[in-house]
Amino acid sequence: MPRTLLLAEPRGFCAGVVRAIDALDRLLSQVDEPVYVFHEIVHNRYVVDGFKSRGAVFIDDISEAPDGAFVVFSAHGVDPAIIKNAEQRELKVIDATCPLVTKVHLEARKAAKDGYKILLVGHDGHDEVQGTKGEAPDKTSVVDSAQDVLAISDPEAPVFVVTQTTLSVEDTLGTIEAIKDRFPDAEIRNDICYATTNRQQAVKEMAERADLVIVVGSTNSSNSVRLVEVAKSMGVRAQLVDGLNDIDPAWYADAETVGLTAGASVPDELLDPIIEDLKMRGVINIEPVVVAEETVEFRLPLELSENME
Ligand code: SF4
Repeated sequence: MPRTLLLAEPRGFCAGVVRAIDALDRLLSQVDEPVYVFHEIVHNRYVVDGFKSRGAVFIDDISEAPDGAFVVFSAHGVDPAIIKNAEQRELKVIDATCPLVTKVHLEARKAAKDGYKILLVGHDGHDEVQGTKGEAPDKTSVVDSAQDVLAISDPEAPVFVVTQTTLSVEDTLGTIEAIKDRFPDAEIRNDICYATTNRQQAVKEMAERADLVIVVGSTNSSNSVRLVEVAKSMGVRAQLVDGLNDIDPAWYADAETVGLTAGASVPDELLDPIIEDLKMRGVINIEPVVVAEETVEFRLPLELSENME
């Protein structure tokens, strides 16, 4: 049975998620009319359900928001075509796109303007990848592996590489190596963000000592799923859960040391019941596994005050 609990640091909320949640929270508190949110504000069921209960209306098609309505764009960013549609329909937009995702959009936009063929390393269909690809859909190919790199046809233009922000650091290195082999002159930006990198490093160190790693996060959260993969790649059992209710106590049977972490969209309060439960099951040592101190903060979207006027 578990005796020691390792807590990854950092874990849970990153600066981009804090900003997106604060923006939506503030808007809901300040306006009396309906607030629409284009895509999940962050990929966490608990957070999204909390906002739904306060009246936020989540939509996956921008046409579902009536002309002139308040619309919040999620932390994952949006296709520029959506921004144009919102302008034409005079939607009051609060853009909660993480500034680190916006940076990738700007890189892709400039590369397309400069005549490059863009390789976007990421998971096709993820909200963030759809948004970035929208900067130059005709010039962008999404690649997710070394095999994908081999499969693309020879581009007629020089190659520029950007990445999704929440990828596996190690898997991405493999894909980037394949790109370098095939296109030695490619210009490469690795955009995996500080929060993704730190959380993966922390889970790696934790997995060296743990018999079981529990990652709190939703199944559609890319960075949470990556944390499970990183732990498994270290040869450790790992489980992704939305909270205490998803945990099967049988997992603890032969786990003397349990590691606990959370994806970047997960509030720490979801971990508290798991920690209390482990204490009741016999955990007597709780140790942090610290790999970095995060001090990044982002200012709230400017439109928040402008749209209030
Ligand atoms: Fe921004 Fe990284 Fe957080 Fe995504 S995971 S919201 S890119 S800081």
